[in-house]
Amino acid sequence: MSGSGGVDWDDDDPFEEQRDQVESPMRRLLFEYGRPYWFSVTVGLIASVLARALDLLPALLLAVAIDAIFGDAAFAEQVPLVVLPEAWLPATQEAQFWLVVAAIAGSFVLGAVFHWLRNWGFNAFSQGVQHDVRTATYDKMQRLDMEFFANKQTGEMMSVLSNDVNQLERFLNEGMNSATRLIVMVVGITFLLFWLNPQLALVSLAPVPLIAIFTYVFVKKIQPKYAAVRSSVGKVNSRLENNLGGINVIKSSNTEPYESDRVEDVSRKYYDTNWEAIWLRIKFFPTLQVISGVGFVLTFLVGGYWVFTGSGPGPFTGTLETGVFVAFIMYTQQLVWPMAQFGQVINMYQRAAASSERIFGLMDEEGRIERDEEAEDLEVRAGRVEYDHVGFGYDTDDDRVIDDVSFDVEGGETVALVGPTGAGKSTVLKLLLRLYDVDEGSIRVDGQDVREVSLSSLRRSMGYVGQESFLFYGTVEENIAYGSFDADREEIVAAAKAAEAHEFIQNLPDGYDTMVGERGVKLSGGQRQRVAIARAVLKDPDILVLDEATSDVDTETEMLIQRSIDDLTENRTTFAIAHRLSTIKDADQILVLEGGEIVERGTHGELLANDGLYAHLWGVQAGEIDELPQEFIERAQRRQARTEVDVDADDDD
Ligand code: ADP
Repeated sequence: MSGSGGVDWDDDDPFEEQRDQVESPMRRLLFEYGRPYWFSVTVGLIASVLARALDLLPALLLAVAIDAIFGDAAFAEQVPLVVLPEAWLPATQEAQFWLVVAAIAGSFVLGAVFHWLRNWGFNAFSQGVQHDVRTATYDKMQRLDMEFFANKQTGEMMSVLSNDVNQLERFLNEGMNSATRLIVMVVGITFLLFWLNPQLALVSLAPVPLIAIFTYVFVKKIQPKYAAVRSSVGKVNSRLENNLGGINVIKSSNTEPYESDRVEDVSRKYYDTNWEAIWLRIKFFPTLQVISGVGFVLTFLVGGYWVFTGSGPGPFTGTLETGVFVAFIMYTQQLVWPMAQFGQVINMYQRAAASSERIFGLMDEEGRIERDEEAEDLEVRAGRVEYDHVGFGYDTDDDRVIDDVSFDVEGGETVALVGPTGAGKSTVLKLLLRLYDVDEGSIRVDGQDVREVSLSSLRRSMGYVGQESFLFYGTVEENIAYGSFDADREEIVAAAKAAEAHEFIQNLPDGYDTMVGERGVKLSGGQRQRVAIARAVLKDPDILVLDEATSDVDTETEMLIQRSIDDLTENRTTFAIAHRLSTIKDADQILVLEGGEIVERGTHGELLANDGLYAHLWGVQAGEIDELPQEFIERAQRRQARTEVDVDADDDD
């Protein structure tokens, strides 16, 4: 069921845009993901139909027993449904009795076997589909652009990957099962009732159209509520995820009550939206049961009176045997529950549809980066990198964050990017790693446009050490070897030594086997950074990208690391962003960025002679002058004001 049709979806669902574009999510779920499990689902369906058909047998046999064995009707006439030739039927009442007993017992045993098969089939199907959907969604998601992640909250994506995926299971297992039961029971019982006594069948089945209309109304009402529930689950998750991630800040800012209130708010919203859905549901099911019950009461009333008086009451004609009456009572009783479950099935279907829509919405997300699966691998020879009139903005229609940037780096050279915060230094490097694609111009590595080579080969040839060194939960060793999974201990230690990390690692309680805690919280910022550098050393990439790789370490350690970085960068094309200019003064080329443009370029010596922004920044850092000249400060202030205007404008949106 698609998300269109004027339904009142919750406006602020973060996946609204994706969801709206999904066509028939349930069909896709069943046909795309269900296909590999066609065998188990077919077994499940057939077994379910047979099991339910057997459930219908006892009432019929009972009717036969009452009328032919205990009453005086002819046995052979009572069992046209039992497809035995008349000659095979026993003649004595006692033998007939035993035949019925055997048939009832047999139907129970066979029923158990079918129920077992049905359970196996549906469970194998639902678990398999669920597993495949979860892994496929994750696979797809981790390939999305950074832009997507910048605009979504982790908790929301977690909620799709866990809650929404789990939601499918209920429908694929219980829902499909109840649906088959419902169909078999309704079709089977309707057929049997009409066959036994068409007039009384009309009475018993009178409430069915009413149930259908009532359920339709229910579905229309509950559908938007479920979509709202699913999206508020995502919001609760995001809040919790955010707060747990920022627990340090919460504690140190003493904002526990404030955060408790915020959690209370989102949880209340979830409660409210969920309660609306629950309220509808708890009104619906008892009403449905009452309507179904009316059918039962009517059948008992009319049928009972009929048997009692021996002739049809009112417009009814003919006779009603006691056995047939009993079978009617049993069947109407058997019909009540599947009827009441009709709503449940629709209910499960709706929930699963809301979830599938979010799942497929995520899967269909097209990034801004165009992927060419057939692309050739990047072949790094000298390691020459060219930026050719590169322009880029995070928002397509927004101002350029990078404007007409051109420079060449020869293989093996080191190029440093310096400039004020927000100048676009990191962005220049993100474009090289192809976390984003350039809007204008091109970036080439040894003559190959980064957009025309396979992403994996591009990223394989680059080593990146960023400002925040993210460590995974695991040991120090695992974190160093991350991405170079077949490295042995010796190589890992050598890399750690090169990154000046070996010493502190040895002093950790379990050395290389020490667990670093979630995100590496058990290490200091500087230690994490050295682990990240060791990771890059071990990867031994053709091109090294250091985005303030030593910002978190003290000056002493920085000097030590600098030595190892010098070794690392010696014959390797290196891009380095640094605030402490002393760390990059030996670079072959220094680019000074301001407002997304290169404003100065040259070697340290040339730039000092130039007496521009770089020379003054150097002067301040070296302690030669106290602060930047007024001209630079004013420029910085103007820039700051510009960014603030941008941010305000964004807020107004
Ligand atoms: P630098 O590394 O020089 O400090 P950045 O390249 O990180 O600068 O940022 C350049 C500009 O781009 C800044 O104005 C920043 O606010 C903006 N920016 C950075 N990342 C994003 C993003 N993911 N989405 C939108 N704008 C961004």
